[in-house]
Order: sequence, then C-alpha cells, then structure tokens
Amino acid sequence: MRTLITNASVLDMVGETANIEKKDILINNNIIEKIDKDIDQNIEIDEKINAKNMLVMPGLINTHTHLAMSIFRGYKTDKKLMDWLENAIYPVEDKLKPEDIYWNSYLSCLEMIKSGTTTCNDMYFGMNKTVEAIENTGLRAVVAWCIKDDSIKDKIEKTREYAQKYNNNKNSKIKIYVSADAPHTCNPDTITMCVNLAKELNTGLHIHLAETSNEEKKIKSRYGKRSTEYLNDLNVFDVPVVLAHGIYVSDSDIEILKKIKGGISHNPVSNCKLSSGICNVVKLRKNGINTGLGTDGIGSTSTMDMFEEMKTAAYLQKVNAKEPSSILAYDILKMATIDGAKVLGMENEIGTLEPGKKADMIFIKTEKLHMCPDNDICSNIVYSANGADVDSVMIDGKLIMQNRKMLNMNEKEVMRQVKKIAKRLL
Ligand SMILES: [Zn+2]
Repeated sequence: MRTLITNASVLDMVGETANIEKKDILINNNIIEKIDKDIDQNIEIDEKINAKNMLVMPGLINTHTHLAMSIFRGYKTDKKLMDWLENAIYPVEDKLKPEDIYWNSYLSCLEMIKSGTTTCNDMYFGMNKTVEAIENTGLRAVVAWCIKDDSIKDKIEKTREYAQKYNNNKNSKIKIYVSADAPHTCNPDTITMCVNLAKELNTGLHIHLAETSNEEKKIKSRYGKRSTEYLNDLNVFDVPVVLAHGIYVSDSDIEILKKIKGGISHNPVSNCKLSSGICNVVKLRKNGINTGLGTDGIGSTSTMDMFEEMKTAAYLQKVNAKEPSSILAYDILKMATIDGAKVLGMENEIGTLEPGKKADMIFIKTEKLHMCPDNDICSNIVYSANGADVDSVMIDGKLIMQNRKMLNMNEKEVMRQVKKIAKRLL
C-alpha cells in the first residue's frame, strides 16, 4: 500500500532549527519512503491525501500517562498529591473492574488522538484491558504494569507474558516496559526485582521520581539519601528508564542522571495543578539529559491535550528562569516529538519525519484566526494552537482521524460507557 501526501507544509523536526518546506510525502505501508518536492504522481499510488493549508509534523509523544484514570476528571480536585491520592483516588481504584479499565483507557486514547498524540507511555494496573483499548484505537504505546510493594507476583507474570508476546514482534505498535511505581512506594527488594525483570526481558523501566518535596523527605528519613541516589544505589540506571516528573533533583543528582539511558518526562500541567513544584527543564537540557513531555493521568491534568503541556512547559521555564529566551518554541516542539522519542528509546523509529521512519504524523489546520498571520509557525503551534486544530492523524501509515472524524470509532458510545462507570463509582 502506497500513500502520497501532496501540498503539505512539512515541519520535519530534524535538526536544531525549524525547517518548514512545501513538500510531498510518499509512504510505503507503514514507513516513510520519500519526502521531496513534487514527487512523481505517475508512480503507482493507492491513496492520495491533499494537505493544502496543513502543517504536517511528527505525531506528538506523551511520555507519561495513566490512561485508565480518565474517570477521575474533575473529581475532588484542588488537593495536594498525597491527600488527593489517599482520600479521593485509592478508595475508588480498588473498585475498578477490568471493563472499567477498558472504557476509561479507551476514552483517554481517543482524546489523545483527537489532540495529535500518536504515541504514549502508560503505567497503571489491569493493563491487559488497557492494551486492548490501545490496540482497538490504533495508537502506538509503551505499556507497563505498575508494581508497588503489594501483589507483585501477578504483575511480574503479566509483564513477562506480555513482553514475550509484544517485544519480539517487530511490527507491533505495543512495547512492554517494567514499572515500579515510585521510590516512596517501593522498598529496595521491590525495586531490585523490577530492575532484574527489565534486564531479563531486555526492556526499560518506567518510574515516578522526585515529584514532591514530601516524597524526598520520606526517602531521606528512611534511607538517609535523595531518591535519585536511592535508585542509583539499587542499579536502576543500568537499564533504560523513563523518570516521571524529576522536580526535586539536586546538582549531584544531575551528575547521576547525565549517564542514564532514556530520560525524564516533564508533566507541567499536573505539576502546576497539584502544586508539586517546577522541574528545571532548562538545566536538564543543558546537561544533555533527554526531557520529553507528558500529561500524567487525567485526574491530575484534566485533559490529555499535549498542546496544553507544550504551552505550560514554555511558560513555566520562562517564569522560573525570568528569561523568555531560556526555552524557545522549537525546543518545546522537540520535547513533544524527537526528545520524547529519545526518552522512550524510540528515536530511530519515530519523532521526526524522515525516510525510513514509521509514518506517524499529524495534520494541523493553520488557516485559523488564532494562527493568522503565520510570522512564525513554530511559535503559533506552541503559543496559539490547541488540540482541536489537529485535523487528521496518521499512525503507522494509517489514517486514524480525518477531518476531525475518528475513523472506525464511536465517540458517543465511549462517553456513554465512561459516564455509566462514573455514576456507579464516584
Ligand atoms: Zn504519574
């Protein structure tokens, strides 16, 4: 199957400065074959897409999610993290049935696709139902069973079973990681077990790190060290890692983090909403630490729209540094695409539009009042656009959404199911 996209303004996200040119894109099955001016239209083509007035760029990469938490949108908000988790979230999570996980995850997937995300990195429990939802929506995803100190055995077996099924299949859009929840909820034995499992399965590890100052205090009083040191001493950084948040990292922690494979997932909206703190992204990037963007779960962000994360990330860094040039619109776009791919160890497959890479791309309608005039397209995408400006989404060479219509998915049915679950549980 060959697809030709014509008349596109292509932002390929290759290189250190923005490169936007009118080009055609030729796709062979799920791989980008060629990007060039005026590709010969006489070659055999099965599908043609006219991208006039569209900016075509790599699909956005959401590096930290809890898809099944969509049910918690707007539920008992305006609380700090531990108060919110212990008094609002945990009691309800205990009652979630597998079917609930499926529909809640499905809703998050649709919301992500509709706002331009093509890959996510998810950790939660009951992940077999989340994997089912991801597969039915067509997203690309890294998935992990979140392991805490309790019910470890079952999650380890499931991780092993799914890793064997998905990680050895080159064409699979799903990749299985191991996940330990966080330093303050996993004792040294649990963390060591997770690291050993990641080594055995030749995969990476997804974990929360240094999200709040209280967590840091807990780890300090328990082990006499910072949480980054705690993980380092347990050999966590022997394997590729995705570290969600990374707010409370010292200069000595940065020296440790400089050597990791993978990187940090910065979740600015969640960090603002829960008043967790500001991750110093400028400093991390200066030190060569890969930093991507993530939404976290809907309960703590309220939306899966990565455009909100881009804008908030930019504003937070500018305020933190008291310097508007501390981070540029193009830097933010890199975080949402190629740098996110590096965090997930997928930079050879996704994150830029280049021949040989997977055909994951989004079409943004730029003929809009709030993006007129187009003095600086990158600036318009980061500071003026929103998720609803994404017109079409292609994942693995297949259009999943076209003209804002989800192909083969029933949005109303998903909403009906999630409302029903919310009514029963909240
Ligand atoms: Zn999280």
